[in-house]
Amino acid sequence: MKALEVRNLSYRYPDGRAALRDVSLELEAGERLGLIGPNGAGKSTLLLHLNGLLPERLDSPSPIHVFGRPVEKAHLSGVRAQVGLLFQDPDDQLFCPTVGEDVAFGPRQLGLTGSALTARVAAALEQVGLAGFEERLPHRLSHGEKHRVCLAGLLACEARVLALDEPTSSLDPRGRRELKALLQRLPMAQIIATHDLELVVEICPRVLVLDQGALVAAGPTCDILNDEALMLAHGLERPHILQHHHPHPSSVRS
Ligand code: ADP
Repeated sequence: MKALEVRNLSYRYPDGRAALRDVSLELEAGERLGLIGPNGAGKSTLLLHLNGLLPERLDSPSPIHVFGRPVEKAHLSGVRAQVGLLFQDPDDQLFCPTVGEDVAFGPRQLGLTGSALTARVAAALEQVGLAGFEERLPHRLSHGEKHRVCLAGLLACEARVLALDEPTSSLDPRGRRELKALLQRLPMAQIIATHDLELVVEICPRVLVLDQGALVAAGPTCDILNDEALMLAHGLERPHILQHHHPHPSSVRS
């Protein structure tokens, strides 16, 4: 079964601006998919649809299925737990006084309590390399650590799909390297909206190009990113890293 299936999704913001036009995509279980395109292409808008934060009133039937379940009102809490959305700025996502409480927030909403909850939080923090951080104060952490706490919160809800919005944009080189390694280790399906084309080359075997709300290309990362005319036509450029890569998609898996 597909982790995600989006069929002919279109969306206008309430002010009338068309942000998505007839977008269809599929994500396999365990697949990492890059989502690239210029600013304003609709990448964030698309991610917000995947767990029902948009549209304001959910359509029925829904154009989006998560592991076969439609993103409709009746399934919303289940879908929200399955699709973990990582915002660009971790400060928009962290709101509890301690790291432990923040990571516990989601699973508590799902009904977990007591020692099961404590164990779930500890395991999630360990998975992101922050074992023992429960009592730490989120606002005192580095940016990279904050990102990882947010990810731990999604893992603690047992998300099966991660939707990541510009996960590396505010990280320093070490934070970026650590996040990249972490995403590579995590087994769940991931859709990664980013301007970081090196990240896409390094960890996403397949990529989609979005421009003005429409999907304009999809395919193996090396094929798409090596297509200079395509990249330039959509406000992108061929990344330097590809000059050292053999242009075959298998070479980008590491
Ligand atoms: P990207 O993430 O690719 O930069 P966005 O999804 O943020 O693109 O934006 C897609 C389009 O929708 C842009 O034209 C943007 O200006 C518009 N948009 C984004 N958020 C809103 C909003 N809350 N209200 C109205 N228009 C918006």
